[in-house]
Amino acid sequence: MKIILTLKPSLIVFLSAFVMFSCRHDSALTKYNTENVIVVVMDGARYSEVLGDADALYTPRLKNNLTPTSVISHHFYNNGSTFTIPGHAALTTGNFQDIDNNGGQLPQNSSIFQHWIKANNNNTEKAWIIASKDKLEILKNCVDSEWNGQYMPSTNCGANGLGTGYREDSVTMVRALSILTNNQPKLALINFREPDYSGHAADWPKYIKGIQDVDEYIYRLWDFIENDPNYKGKTTLFVTNDHGRHLDSVNDGYISHGDDCLGCRHISFYAFGPDFKQDYSMGEEHEMIDIPATIAELLHFDLPDGKGRIMQELFK
Ligand SMILES: [Zn+2]
Ligand SMILES: [Zn+2]
Repeated sequence: MKIILTLKPSLIVFLSAFVMFSCRHDSALTKYNTENVIVVVMDGARYSEVLGDADALYTPRLKNNLTPTSVISHHFYNNGSTFTIPGHAALTTGNFQDIDNNGGQLPQNSSIFQHWIKANNNNTEKAWIIASKDKLEILKNCVDSEWNGQYMPSTNCGANGLGTGYREDSVTMVRALSILTNNQPKLALINFREPDYSGHAADWPKYIKGIQDVDEYIYRLWDFIENDPNYKGKTTLFVTNDHGRHLDSVNDGYISHGDDCLGCRHISFYAFGPDFKQDYSMGEEHEMIDIPATIAELLHFDLPDGKGRIMQELFK
């Protein structure tokens, strides 16, 4: 009896190790059609004006062009600091962390870009951060001494890089299409500064115009992916936000963001790609850090410090 009792825990350990090893092994062997991943961030749009609006008054492209062939989620959240840099860093590192929102501090953890580049022959030309906000250039690097200054992606951010100010989304759109055409990134993050920029200016009509413009830009990117021989049929596109904005009942409402009210945390989510379901609404709740975990799975690299989980429900 005593022998059986002492054997049982070790048997459990053995079986657990076997199961873990098997899962990793299966995962590594899974062949996906996805060869490229593009993440588009519509900066600071509230869920209520995007996916939460059943009529999609301001996002007709997302509703009519993207949604019929995509997975959407009405249960997707920023569960960390609801500011721009922490929100984007959650998407790129798989960790919620409270870092300076002005670009004066690097993310603690290595990013999907660094891990992808290391896994792909140090090919920094094929991983890109393209952003209207110059401060997002800090996403290329991290504090972690094993990764600091290494395997950094190419960047095209703000007026002319970190510290030079924001640029119009129309400029970012032109740059993004040019980089997709000429450099053909296999992993890219594209940030549009609207509608956040006009929200902070307390200009509701321009806030709405910002959503409408970015809706159109996302459609053009999707249309490009669907028609470009290098991307068609082998590219996964994620569309989300870095954070929302306060509910109308909280502080100054749509003008600001940054706390943990539902308006700031609840964000929109769309995913389109050859390995994902189509015209499907996810039931399971997910958070931003699950996007990098899913990208690592799709592109077959490890993200050991990432805290997210693979969004299994997306897959066919
Ligand atoms: Zn933001
Ligand atoms: Zn709030």
